[in-house]
Amino acid sequence: TSIPAPTVKDGDSKSDDDTSEEQISPAEKSLLQKIIRKGLVETTKDIEIQRQDPNSPLYSVKTFDALHLKPALLKGVYALGFNAPSRIQETALPTLLADPPQNMIAQSQSGTGKTAAFVLAMLSRVDVTKEYPQVLCLSPTYELAIQTGEVAAKMSRFCPEIKIKYAVRGEEISRGSKISEHIIIGTPGKVLDWGQKFKFFDLSKISVFVLDEADVMIATQGHQDQCIRIHKLLPRACQMMFFSATYEPEVMNFAEIIVSNPLIIRLLREEESLDNIKQYYIRCKNVDEKYTAITNIYGVITIGQAIIFCHTKKTASWLAGKMTKDGHAVAILSGDLTVEQRISVLDRFRAGLEKVLITTNVLARGIDVEQVTIVVNFDLPMDQNRQADCETYLHRIGRTGRFGKSGIAINLIDSDHAMELCRTIEKHFGKKIHYLDAEDADEIE
Ligand code: ADP
Repeated sequence: TSIPAPTVKDGDSKSDDDTSEEQISPAEKSLLQKIIRKGLVETTKDIEIQRQDPNSPLYSVKTFDALHLKPALLKGVYALGFNAPSRIQETALPTLLADPPQNMIAQSQSGTGKTAAFVLAMLSRVDVTKEYPQVLCLSPTYELAIQTGEVAAKMSRFCPEIKIKYAVRGEEISRGSKISEHIIIGTPGKVLDWGQKFKFFDLSKISVFVLDEADVMIATQGHQDQCIRIHKLLPRACQMMFFSATYEPEVMNFAEIIVSNPLIIRLLREEESLDNIKQYYIRCKNVDEKYTAITNIYGVITIGQAIIFCHTKKTASWLAGKMTKDGHAVAILSGDLTVEQRISVLDRFRAGLEKVLITTNVLARGIDVEQVTIVVNFDLPMDQNRQADCETYLHRIGRTGRFGKSGIAINLIDSDHAMELCRTIEKHFGKKIHYLDAEDADEIE
């Protein structure tokens, strides 16, 4: 029995399937980006410093050794494979670790090392002789809090005396007890409950406050108010650290409420480009020929991994089902999965257990993953009016970074309309999309 091809021709369907996956929340997007990324985003940009207390000189470090961390903590940093501070860390870390403590607002795109920076600051500020929470980190969701906690656990693996407590759903504490852990990482609602309502810990004894993913935080109903309520209960001398991947007026207004007299540092987003990407198109008569093209491509991927973008969930799951049935190891990331399932799919893909990831637009941004060498557009990206969506094309295919990792993009064309989209995209970027004979997929290497 063969799996029937999707009956609705992609792009002709205006059903919910088309867009349902693109509507994942900012928090989920941020999480997926964290999971899929193996290392730092390279950057050619310089740090922008927006406000600086004239009384405090600004330092920058080129090595972790120069930070004079506790040896066990430094060991933990190196054990993570970090050789040198990232661009944002070079400037952020000396300030975050300075005495007297300084407040900071830092903005840079996902993957530039913000989490690692504030986790290091959190860990180094802990006084283990005091058995109560001193460091509080707010994250927008359960999953993001866990991600941060895992970084903290790894970085502090040689400092077993530092204890971390999650204040997230599912964690319960019996009435009247007190939290003895040094660091609390949690979501605003739970932290308010524990700190204000149940008094499981004393917010007025917190000396380091981290607000992570501020842009995601304000996109979540009620979170901003809860953060502000928590902030009001913190002591004046508490060090405030505020992080965001984006820089909008709402984020900055929020920042101004939370952080007084801050050092503001920004790292501009690295632009994506098609410069080092070889682009091709393959003519196919129908969806079955597209499938054949995919299997040919699969056959020639010897190194690296591929991501295949489909326009609808339906096509994505059809393709995944058929490839699996034909004995190919593929992963599928679809909107039908739970958050846990998505994490596990991306974890496996990042670990290289599957060579191919099939998805819709969920990952359109943030797929600049080193090990992905081939991106296939099973369907060309288009907007609601069926016009070429050049921006999405660039997010899917483009790469950042000065070392210009090269890549290959293959567009499957099965109609005149698809050919038109392809021509429009080609013209828009002024970069040739070469014809590739369906039989000659091996030419691409
Ligand atoms: P952000 O919080 O800005 O998204 P992260 O701190 O999560 O960035 O870092 C992105 C990725 O880079 C993670 O996989 C992290 O382990 C890694 N990383 C962070 N700092 C360094 C460093 N100094 N050297 C090498 N890798 C790093």
